[in-house]
Amino acid sequence: MKNLYVLEINSNFNGRNMIIFPVLICDGAEMVLVDTGIPGQTELFKAEAEKKGISLENLTKIVITHHDIDHIGSLAEMKREFKNVKVVSSEIEGDYITGEKESARLEHMRNNFDKFTEERKQWFVKYQDISKKLERIEVDILLKDNEMIPGCSKIRAIQTPGHLPGHMSVYAEESRTLIAGDALGLMDGKLFINSQNTLDMSKAKDSVRKMLELNIDNIVCYHGGLFRGDCKQALQDILNSQN
Ligand SMILES: [Zn+2]
Repeated sequence: MKNLYVLEINSNFNGRNMIIFPVLICDGAEMVLVDTGIPGQTELFKAEAEKKGISLENLTKIVITHHDIDHIGSLAEMKREFKNVKVVSSEIEGDYITGEKESARLEHMRNNFDKFTEERKQWFVKYQDISKKLERIEVDILLKDNEMIPGCSKIRAIQTPGHLPGHMSVYAEESRTLIAGDALGLMDGKLFINSQNTLDMSKAKDSVRKMLELNIDNIVCYHGGLFRGDCKQALQDILNSQN
């Protein structure tokens, strides 16, 4: 994929192992990172980018798809470390990322706490604690649907609500790649909507319908990585099979 690099970051978050796949895209003088992992991962990101011959010192934008902690965890430290970076999000997510509004995720989980297993209850208490302690920073640029990332000519924001109300994906035109964030998950080679973590399934499916209007050759999921199959067919399959 031209000018697009999928990073693979191994993490242990709140007692669970997970691999995340943030994406780096170059567009002229701009270097854009999509999502920042859990707290304390800046060095890991730097090392992973270096393996691909890229120095994150040249980073100009960080796009945050949504305010879940595994996406904004290292945002404040990266902003400090990489001096030229501007932080970009959707208009809705802005206040959640800065912490001005309480996390929609925490609120949703708290409302469903009584239905959780004992293990999930314990996990949530720790998750809430990590979220509340997280260092917050300002968002520099708020984008509407279909807007270009400022400074770029081939990287667009696509609003894809559902997982969270202001979730935003990124479309890299040059390589016809959709960086789906958590609007889609990938497991065992199959794309799906992670219904357990999706606040509004109906909106999430509308977002998939919207993706079908784009010319997509590749899809990158933050959880699951690169999907290279027939993207249109896979998106259609989600609409046909998931309620
Ligand atoms: Zn996530």
